[in-house]
Amino acid sequence: MPHAAKPRETALVIGSGIGGLSSAIILATLGFDVTVIERNVQPGGMLRSFVRRGVHCNVGLHYLGALDQGQILRRCFDFLGITDQLPLERMGRNAPVDRYYFTNAINGPDQFDMPVGLDAYETHLMDAFPAEKKPISTFMEQLRANAADFHHLNFLYDPRPMANLIEQTEPLWAFLDRAGYSPGLKSVISVPSVWIGVPADQCPLFYHTMILASYLFSAWRLQSSGAHMVDVLQQRLLSLGGKLVTGHAVQRIDIRKGQVQGVTLDNGEPLSAANVVAAIHPKIVLNLLAPEDVKPSYRRRIAGLKDTDGMFSVHALVPRNGHQAIPHNIFSVRTTPNGAVDDVIYLQLRPCERPGYLLLSLLTSGQEALWQPWQHTRSGQRGEDYQRLKQAVAHRLIRQVEPITGPYHKLELLDVYTPLSIRDWVNSPNGSAYGVMRSCRQLLSAAVLNRTAVQGLYLAGQNIVAPGVLGTILGSLATIKFMIGPDRFNQEIQL
Ligand SMILES: Cc1cc2nc3c(=O)[nH]c(=O)nc-3n(C[C@H](O)[C@H](O)[C@H](O)COP(=O)(O)OP(=O)(O)OC[C@H]3O[C@@H](n4cnc5c(N)ncnc54)[C@H](O)[C@@H]3O)c2cc1C
Repeated sequence: MPHAAKPRETALVIGSGIGGLSSAIILATLGFDVTVIERNVQPGGMLRSFVRRGVHCNVGLHYLGALDQGQILRRCFDFLGITDQLPLERMGRNAPVDRYYFTNAINGPDQFDMPVGLDAYETHLMDAFPAEKKPISTFMEQLRANAADFHHLNFLYDPRPMANLIEQTEPLWAFLDRAGYSPGLKSVISVPSVWIGVPADQCPLFYHTMILASYLFSAWRLQSSGAHMVDVLQQRLLSLGGKLVTGHAVQRIDIRKGQVQGVTLDNGEPLSAANVVAAIHPKIVLNLLAPEDVKPSYRRRIAGLKDTDGMFSVHALVPRNGHQAIPHNIFSVRTTPNGAVDDVIYLQLRPCERPGYLLLSLLTSGQEALWQPWQHTRSGQRGEDYQRLKQAVAHRLIRQVEPITGPYHKLELLDVYTPLSIRDWVNSPNGSAYGVMRSCRQLLSAAVLNRTAVQGLYLAGQNIVAPGVLGTILGSLATIKFMIGPDRFNQEIQL
């Protein structure tokens, strides 16, 4: 008697950011019948750029690390099958990748250039802080060891991945303080983790070194736009037989007797599947579950997680006749006298679609208190006062960077967004930019967020391993490893 064909495994993925799309592509590659559900009409979440007066403005995609042949993100992109379609531009050839300006440097240099490569980074640190060669070597030793672990993806493939990391859960700041680093050196080293929302006194050493290493491996800009990258991911998913439903939010995750049955959309339509991957913030997942679906202790743990802050952003057109495109990122950094980084402004000045103009993009902390009066309003309905305040804060921010880049005459504002805009666009609690804060204080409560006690329900997205395109894809891989088990993962997912 012929065997009946084995039914295909089924999965629904909630959210079409890089977390949802990468999870879905991996599942489709493994043979799952997979459908992504996105509440917005356009897919992509924070990866998607928006268009103002014909110019693409990126939200969550300014630069990428580790994309050289054989490097981690490149191996991920190759596995996803998208590398060839992404026009990438290597940064740092004849210029730094990042240039830090310390606006109130007291006992350190007022400028530091972040190069490509760990050796070059060490040389730059030693040149800038010649009296601190020994502590720099100590830090570099740790950075090199962690970078090698990271490059080999030991946390995914090593059966005992945590052994090395457990020793490195002390905060970066404590590590630097213990060895007597000067305030200037501490500021330089700590910028990358502050930039992804974790202050140095709360950032686990292993997490900091992972973020820093990912950009030291190599750094890249996408020559097209975030929307183009989303198109490429979407096409890849469809070509593998995956499906995408947009314009409908998941309203409920359906669970019976501790097992996922599927989801119900906001129009009441039920979709069934044996697996649901929620590539959205864990606190939003709680809203989609009935009280009896998970234990009160799980609910309390997730609801109590501290998130990273939101961001305030400005996009503006600058006439080319007064300025040249800048091939590197600029960070304007304010520090306290002991070297703690307490304010960062990120700047890019790049060519854009409008002839004769450059696109200026600025990002800084969200200053949530300013937008508090509008927290109960929705995007597009916040009124004149909100618009006026946004413009005023935008112009203040522009004036703050002018001493570094020169004055911006005849600048045209294209768009200004606040944490409330991000909150409404991607359903991120309070507009948090980088999701759950991976701090020392909540190492345990934020660990293994991809697992739930409900059979068939998994979480993915930037909250699982780390934010950023690389961190989020690694989160997708970690979740899928848990879904299919380590044996099948090791066999079928060779990066
Ligand atoms: C200002 C800013 C700049 C950044 N710059 C960089 C950078 O230069 N390089 C880099 O690598 N990373 C950068 N990042 C980080 C990176 O963009 C994010 O880590 C990543 O995009 C997060 O992806 P995600 O899939 O986890 O979440 P999201 O992109 O937020 O996707 C979640 C999706 O789920 C949808 N959704 C939510 N609820 C539901 C529901 N109930 N039903 C259906 N759909 C739902 C949302 O609409 C959204 O589309 C930046 C982030 C920010 C905020």
